Amino acid sequence: MDKILVIGACGQLGSELTLELRKIYGEANVIASDINLPKNELADGVFETLDVMDARRLGEVVDHHNITQIYHLAAILSAVGEKKPDFAWRLNMEGLMNVLQLAKEKKLHKVYWPSSIAVFGPGTPKQLTPQDCVMDPNTVYGISKLAGERWCQYYFEKFGVDVRSLRYPGLIGYKALPGGGTTDYAVDIFYKALEGERFECFLEKGSYLPMMYMPDAIKATIDLMESDAAKVKVRSSYNLAAISFAPEDVVESVRQHIPDLEVIYKPDFRQTIADSWPDSIDDSRARSDWGWQHAFDLDKMTADIFKHLPALIE
Ligand code: NAD
Repeated sequence: MDKILVIGACGQLGSELTLELRKIYGEANVIASDINLPKNELADGVFETLDVMDARRLGEVVDHHNITQIYHLAAILSAVGEKKPDFAWRLNMEGLMNVLQLAKEKKLHKVYWPSSIAVFGPGTPKQLTPQDCVMDPNTVYGISKLAGERWCQYYFEKFGVDVRSLRYPGLIGYKALPGGGTTDYAVDIFYKALEGERFECFLEKGSYLPMMYMPDAIKATIDLMESDAAKVKVRSSYNLAAISFAPEDVVESVRQHIPDLEVIYKPDFRQTIADSWPDSIDDSRARSDWGWQHAFDLDKMTADIFKHLPALIE
């Protein structure tokens, strides 16, 4: 049985993905780790405090638990990255390089590392952005993800490291708060609506972005990692898509449940980042190579969030 280490397990994605991995592979086989301490159900399983920049400690944790797979999720996201560019570059690159180097030395079976739609930029075709096209990111986050993709492919080709990756769109989940990205507004709106507060949107109407509900993102991640290596033909990172919407679309969807939600649009620096990203993504390679299919559209996602979130914020 493989033993899995999740790095960055306390974040928006990690806190849900780790629990799902534990359900599938057993609690004892999935070790959560993060620079911060865990909350809620995450704390029930095995947890290690770990800074992914500390290569020696990373090696010790891997040895101690006989780890054979790593899901490396720790990163500084797009909006926070623009405020701390030097640090974002260091964490996003050094963290990945430590993991890839260790995977090579210790012959780990598999590594998962997420990329992002932030690898695209103003020169990229905006509609149904293809897998291979102009990539000219203009955020430090996007630059670090694009460089990371190249390193993943390099380690696969030169050293045989079985590293797999997805270019996530904006992820929408209700269980953990987002970590400072450009699509966080689409999470915040649900909290504001349920708390009866006015929703201030930091993006302008008409800002279409690719998005995905968290259960779909988790399914895609596990499907990719479970696929036969021969089917994983893209070794930089796969385009991945589900929904594409603008703020007014999610407002309309939320108002089907909470009709009196008040909204004002107050775009800030994140508008420039959003404007440089695609409106929608062509993920046909993921669909044909390893059978990716999403389950949630906007209204189905909204209904599911309103079914579960009220109990969490009472
Ligand atoms: P997040 O900010 O919510 O979580 C990141 C986690 O990493 C946090 O728990 C943080 O404490 C931890 N961390 C930070 N520095 C660390 C370090 N030095 N060592 C160990 N842990 C550290 O991010 P997320 O939204 O969960 O994103 C996870 C991954 O998915 C990231 O690589 C991100 O770039 C990618 N991604 C996310 C989205 C999204 O919309 N959330 C979209 C595209 C890609």
